[in-house]
This record gives sequence, structure tokens and C-alpha cells, in this order.
Amino acid sequence: MTISTGTAPETRSFEADVARLLHMMVHSVYSDKDVFLRELISNAADACEKLRYELLSDPALAGDDGQPRITVTIDPDARQLIVEDNGIGMSEVELAEALGTIARSGTRAFMERVTAAKEGNREGEGAQLIGQFGVGFYSAFMVADKVDVFSRRAGADTAAHWASEGLGSYTIQLVDPAEGPARGTRIILHLKDDAKSYTEQFTTQRIITAQSGHVPVPIFLKEKPDAEEKQIADGAALWTRPKSDITAEEYTDFYRSAAGQFDEPALTLHYRAEGLHEYSVLAFLPSTRPFDLFDPDRAGRMKLYVRRVFITDEAQILPRYLRFVRGLVDSNDLPLNVSREMIQESPVLSAIQKGVANRILSELDKLAEKDSEAYRKFWDDFGAVLKEGLYEDFARRETLLGLARFKTTAGGEDWRSLKDYVEAIKDNQTAIYYATGTDLDRLSSSPQLEGFRARGIEVLLLTDQVDSFWVTAGVDYQGKPFKSVTQGLADLSLIPLADGEAPATQASAEVDGFIAYVKDVLGEEVSDVRASERLTESAVCLVAPDNAMDRQLEKLLAGAGRLDNAAKPVLEINPRHELIVRLGTLPQDSSLREDAARLLLDEARIADGELPADPRAFSARLARMIGGAIQ
Ligand code: ADP
Ligand code: MG
Repeated sequence: MTISTGTAPETRSFEADVARLLHMMVHSVYSDKDVFLRELISNAADACEKLRYELLSDPALAGDDGQPRITVTIDPDARQLIVEDNGIGMSEVELAEALGTIARSGTRAFMERVTAAKEGNREGEGAQLIGQFGVGFYSAFMVADKVDVFSRRAGADTAAHWASEGLGSYTIQLVDPAEGPARGTRIILHLKDDAKSYTEQFTTQRIITAQSGHVPVPIFLKEKPDAEEKQIADGAALWTRPKSDITAEEYTDFYRSAAGQFDEPALTLHYRAEGLHEYSVLAFLPSTRPFDLFDPDRAGRMKLYVRRVFITDEAQILPRYLRFVRGLVDSNDLPLNVSREMIQESPVLSAIQKGVANRILSELDKLAEKDSEAYRKFWDDFGAVLKEGLYEDFARRETLLGLARFKTTAGGEDWRSLKDYVEAIKDNQTAIYYATGTDLDRLSSSPQLEGFRARGIEVLLLTDQVDSFWVTAGVDYQGKPFKSVTQGLADLSLIPLADGEAPATQASAEVDGFIAYVKDVLGEEVSDVRASERLTESAVCLVAPDNAMDRQLEKLLAGAGRLDNAAKPVLEINPRHELIVRLGTLPQDSSLREDAARLLLDEARIADGELPADPRAFSARLARMIGGAIQ
């Protein structure tokens, strides 16, 4: 890329997404504009942290200005607000890339959410989304109708100037280095008329200390260009202060500026690990779901510091299933000159990874014990993510099973734990039964549950995608395996019916004969046809053969194109059902018999949310049946 030098700035168009985003910033996100300051300061602080990291290997970059700082200057006469840092800076190429193109995964999602919020008359949400989606810089255009950026990369002897009015284009040019900062970035906002209040010293100072008082770089404020600057935030690392000195508000402010969240943390965890390895942890559980919970690219990033120097947010400190946790770890004993790549190999990092994950799980356990309401809320938000650990983290499976909560046939609206389940288990019941599906209501009324319900056997109702995976991963709880109600034989004969009735007696010879006939007619379409233990009200249902995959998992995999041949289901027939008893009495040569046999299979398919195998033949049979009934 070449950049024009000298007098003529080069004009370039923003990428289409940037232009749309800017339009949105200006027109949709109109409440809570103060966040632009938080975004610019957080970028400035990031730039200082990046420089700090580069200084480790190239101390000469510091020149004679080694102390990182952010300076905010107010110019009421020119109606400007200037945010300047002496961080890493941007070369002209970086400037054009960072502020002209967006390849960030969250952008489009952000715009969709803002549009949705707008349509739902929830405009205020838009501003809250900005930080989360990493579209921070452009929020400057909420308050400015023109933005100038002068930047000089550490160690470079050129400076560049970027300018835009936030419409379709920006200009960029190399400038005399004396026009830019000696190192770092200066951002000049030409404030809109309705954003004049940011030139009031008191207003701006209040916003900065509230939103950004805990960024790890000191902040200075000048109330006019030639005024004396005063320090308004000390840049001390909050996590190094003793817990007893830190107020809840300080924690919340820190959480918000560090995690780009706008909620209150649901849980704050601040401790210092001592012993073999020394490190501090400051971690937060959000009280609302971050938008990118299921976006693997942006999955939870705990920051890693070494003696207060930010090293990386890609050290994967926490397992994937804890990606909703926000915060940082500051290690005392990782070597400072370790490269980001080498860190992954370090035994110190593995010790930290292990320690922090264990601690978070034990805090969750405590929360469940102490405050079931808060835990319930936590589980609503993040249970589906935590359950991924049940098949990803074998070593912590016991712990995770203990933390897991379920909707069950016995719990109604409440979450039940496996401990609750096992305490209520029936005599002779050897397994923990579950049903998987996508919809709780449909699931709880599925015919496969009838025999369990009639015996008072609790069934877990699993509706998250991940459920189909962990239940089939050979998990057990207190020696009880998990067993699907739609898979294999339901051996319920040893457990009496709840209303005291003895289990039904043998089916009549006629019914047995009819079932054998159905099996004959359906042939290869099913893997078996048999009398059912699990049905009490419905006439038929489909289940998976004994050693086959659960039907729900099979459907999921087939839907994802990851299954070549699905197992044929077993058709179970309720020999006590009135319809079946009467079908048993049909004469052998009745023309109704074959139609009935095939309709029973289609009925079971439909109850499972599937289509009949041959919809036209199905309609024809149904028409014949209805016709016969009318005569
Ligand atoms: P994010 O901070 O999430 O990356 P932003 O829109 O806030 O998104 O910033 C876009 C990019 O612009 C940053 O990633 C960074 O590369 C660059 N940038 C913005 N402000 C500065 C600054 N003060 N110093 C150096 N680079 C900056
Ligand atoms: Mg940013």
C-alpha cells in the first residue's frame, strides 16, 4: 500500500460494512453516548500495554518517555476533545487498516442486534452493545462530526494523519512528524453541537473516572490546551490492592471497562494463589449472557499478565466451557521475557490453568449451596455452556455433574440436581432416565415417557444441543448410568405402577398375532416391532434399537450431514391400548389390516415430529380409513 505524502491527502472509501456501521452509530445508537470516551480510553490503554510488552524485547523503543500515559485535553473554544496516548502508535498502513476496514467477526452481529433493538423500541441497548462487539473507535462519531487521528508508531520517524467526517470516506496522508505526537496516537474530536457538554471539565472528568478509573495506565486531564494537567486516575492495577480496600463499585467499574460489559457482575472472585506458584486472579461472572457466547472465535478470554505487564489474551487460561468468565491472571513467576508462543508450553501456565478452573468450579458450588436463587439465574444463563465440560473435561466430570441442573418430569419449572434425582430414585431403578429433544413442552408430552410417568419414575428432559453429546459419552452418576427413554428395551417390569396397580398382564394371543403381522408387513422399514412396556396411553411409539444411537442424537447428526446411515427404529405397540386390542380382532383377510399396520408406523413418526415415509400413500390410506368409518 502506498500512502500519499506532502500536501494532498488521499481520499478512500470505507468498506461497506464500516460505512453501514457508522451510519448506525450516528442514527440508531443515540442514548448513552458517554461510552465513546470509554472506548477511546480503552484503545489508548491497550496501545500503552502493547508498547510495554514490546519494550521487554526492545527497551530502546521507550526513548526518553518511558512512562505510559493517557492525556485528555478539553478545548472549549474550538469545541474539541483530544485523547492522546504515548503507546505503540500506528504506522500509516496500520492506521488505514485499523480504521478503514473491519474484519471483525462481531460487526455484522452487532448491526443486526442494534437493528433488532431499534425495532423493539429498545434503543438504549445499542450503546451497551458497542464495547462488547469491538467496534469501539467508531463510537467517536456519535459525538463528533469530524475526527482527526495523528499517529506515530514507536520507533518510526514518520507520522500519519487520518481524518473523516464519518460518512462514506476518510483521508490519509503522511505528515511532518512534528504535527503528530512524539510517539503514540492523538485523536481529535470535533464535537457536534449537541455534544458540547463534553467540553465541561467536570462532566468529562466524572465520566472518565466512573468508566475508566481502573484502566492500568494513568490518565491526565487538561481543562484547556494551555492549562496545567492534573492526574485523574492513577493507573494502579486494581487487582494488586488488598480486597478489603476495594469497594463493590470499583470492582464493577473495573469489570465493565475490562470486559466491555454493562451489567453488574453476578460473582466477583479476587484472590491470590500462594505456594508453588504465585499469581493473582480477578475474575467475574457476568449477569447477562455475552452475545458471543457461542462464537468460537471470540470465546472467553481471560487476560494474562506477568508482574502487571499485559502479555496476551490468547493463553486459554480457562477451558472452553468456562468461556463466560471474564477477568485476568497476573503471574509472579512466569519469566517476563517469555514469548507468547512459549507461554503455552510453560508448566507455570498449566498450573495456573488448573488452579483457576478448579477455583471457579468450587466457587460455583458454594454459590449453589449459599444462594440457590443466584445459582438458578447463573444456570439459566450459562448452564448450556458449562455442560460442554461433561464431555470435554473428563477429570472434572464428577464436579460438573454435581453442578448441573435439569428440568425433569418431577420438577415442573424448577431445576433439579442429580443429587435430588438419586434421592428420589425408585426401588429397583438402576438407571438415570432422560429424554432429549428441542422443545420442553413437546418433550414432556412424548409417548415414550408414559410408562415412566405411570411408575413415578423421574425423567430428565434435556433440550440443549450439547445434551445429546454428553449423555452418550459413557457418563454415570453415583454408579447409575444415563439411559435414554427412546433407546432399547425399557425394562420397567420390576417397578410397580404408581397407583398401585400391578403391571399389565400378558397380551392376548390375538394381539400378539396382530403385532407379528405388523412386523411382517413393515419388513425392512423398521428394525423390530414389539409390545411395549413404556406406553400406557398412546398406541404406538418409535424407539432406537438396543445398541443404536439415541434417536435425537441421530437426528442432530443427520441434520449436520454427519451421519451416513441412520439405524432403523423399533416400533413399539401398546398391547393394552383399546385400538390395538380391537385391531387384534380383525379377521385375517380384512383389507383394513395392512392399512392399519402402515398407519400405525406413520402415527409414531408424526408423534416424533417426522413426516410419514410416503406422504401420498399416507393420505390415501387415511382417506380409505375415514371412508370406511363413515359407511
Ligand atoms: P478494538 O479495540 O476492539 O480492536 P476499536 O474499534 O476500538 O476495536 O479499535 C480498532 C483498532 O484500531 C484497534 O484494534 C487498534 O489496532 C487500533 N487503534 C485504535 N485506537 C488506537 C490507539 N490509540 N493506538 C493504537 N492503535 C489504536
Ligand atoms: Mg477498542
